[in-house]
Amino acid sequence: MQYPRPLGRLVGELSKLPGIGNKTAQRLAFHVLSLSDQEAGALADSITEAKRSMRYCSVCGNLTDQDPCSICSNEARRRDVICVVENPQDVMAMERIKEYDGQYHVLNGVISPMDGIGPEDINLRQLIVRLQEHSEIKEVILATNPNIEGEATAMYIARLLKPSGIRVTRIAHGLPVGGDLEYADEVTLLKAMEGRKEL
Ligand SMILES: [Zn+2]
Repeated sequence: MQYPRPLGRLVGELSKLPGIGNKTAQRLAFHVLSLSDQEAGALADSITEAKRSMRYCSVCGNLTDQDPCSICSNEARRRDVICVVENPQDVMAMERIKEYDGQYHVLNGVISPMDGIGPEDINLRQLIVRLQEHSEIKEVILATNPNIEGEATAMYIARLLKPSGIRVTRIAHGLPVGGDLEYADEVTLLKAMEGRKEL
């Protein structure tokens, strides 16, 4: 079916979103058209505002609207431990279990030779800088996902940090292999943190 041009454009843009097939894009587009001007405007504005004001924290790489982010600038949190995760959604998952009160480092990716992503393509150099500048950091917890790329990335970082003498731990495998931190339930994630092992 040929859409009228503006509708086709909306369907086209929506179908570029992850997990949105053509059918869903069409359903969402028709839903948007059924909204009031004010509601549709609020949706468009929220996209523009989020894009304009959200950035990566210059310290940890988390997504934030203030730099450093609220976690890095929170004086009440422990400064002696850094939890390394793949993306900002993982920080949110970890924060939901309300057990961890240290720092984070967000890689914003994983090492994946198959996709041509090497160590220099993720936010790893900044982690080394942090460790060099902050001798109070005594432990690095590697909480990348338990899949091939996540394991390879954890191993790479563990080897990189070995000479520094900093304690490096890996979260336990209560998490399903191939699973995503982001989708783990809180009990599983808590167990994975508690059962972390020295690398
Ligand atoms: Zn931060």
